[in-house]
Amino acid sequence: NRQIRLAARPVGEVKPEDWEHVTEQAAAPGEGRFAGRTRFISLDPAMRGWLDDRPSYLPPVGIGEVMRAGSVIEVTESEHPGFQPGDHVVGTFGVQEYVVSDGKGVLKVDPALAPLSTYLGALGMPGMTAYFGLLDVGALKEGETVVVSGAAGAVGTMVGQIAKVKGCRVIGIAGGADKCAVLTGELGFDAAIDYRADDVRKALRELAPDGVDVYFDNVGGDILDAVLTRLALHARVVICGAISQYNNETQVQGPSNYLSLLVRRARMEGFVVFDYAPRFGAAARELAGWIATGQIKVKEHVVSGSLDDFPATLQMLFRGENVGKLVLELS
Ligand code: NDP
Repeated sequence: NRQIRLAARPVGEVKPEDWEHVTEQAAAPGEGRFAGRTRFISLDPAMRGWLDDRPSYLPPVGIGEVMRAGSVIEVTESEHPGFQPGDHVVGTFGVQEYVVSDGKGVLKVDPALAPLSTYLGALGMPGMTAYFGLLDVGALKEGETVVVSGAAGAVGTMVGQIAKVKGCRVIGIAGGADKCAVLTGELGFDAAIDYRADDVRKALRELAPDGVDVYFDNVGGDILDAVLTRLALHARVVICGAISQYNNETQVQGPSNYLSLLVRRARMEGFVVFDYAPRFGAAARELAGWIATGQIKVKEHVVSGSLDDFPATLQMLFRGENVGKLVLELS
């Protein structure tokens, strides 16, 4: 069984030496368990945070432990009454080729209803993050102006499209003209700002003259600070993530324009998607409906390779090399 384990705590960007590539003997499932072969592994910005030894919403991955990851596996052997060979299952199975599970905390999925990779993206954790972050935390209302950063990513593409379904005006912020063209040309965003080339504050002044009602922040840093200057009265700033800060070797850069929250009577609120787990089923059904009608398009970036490609694939997120949900397909 090939595995990727954490060899050392990274400082700044994760380096190849921070990982250990290991092959160990695969175990038989045993009573009450099933075994399976990994088909798709999810790559998530949060993985960078799990490598640091500091308090968070999950314990850090230990040195020598298999890297934590969500994945889709195909059951190959089973001594568990609820799972049969040929079943497909999503769970936090880690970066390894072969998985043994007791079935707790896992979800059976149907490849006839959606491609397997979509259960890690639009119908999985990023889709849930967009749905609950925008509709619950952001308390979105019809006709409002929404800005989302990291707009061409897994969460961002879903946030913008859900806001369009809800009758809002949507401005995406992403890196590069190609990504911006996807947002406005393919995904129905009303406008896009290329933060690498454009002046974000100036662009927002032109594109949202009446201010921003909901800002869904995936990136933090300078972009958060720029949007804070353009809030509408009673705006909601949803703190979903801050990928611009995850590789920092120094302190996280805080927003210096936070007093606009006072002036605009606005609020800023963070959330962790796992808290909404009891409502995932209902949200996935609603998202699947919008996908079926074509109101939401699924964007995925599938890298086909072997388990040893995991470290390099993870780095793509921090270089902005993905459009939509990034997954590694084991071929
Ligand atoms: P994405 O698919 O959006 O991939 C990451 C993207 O971030 C890249 O494509 C890149 O796009 C952008 N990026 C990378 N570095 C920077 C930078 N320095 N400044 C600005 N943008 C940058 O990832 P996800 O959709 O999976 O995750 C998006 C965010 O949501 C992350 O912050 C993640 O941690 C958070 N998250 C939070 C959850 C929660 O429960 N709160 C759950 C799931 C995700 P570009 O080319 O545009 O720069």
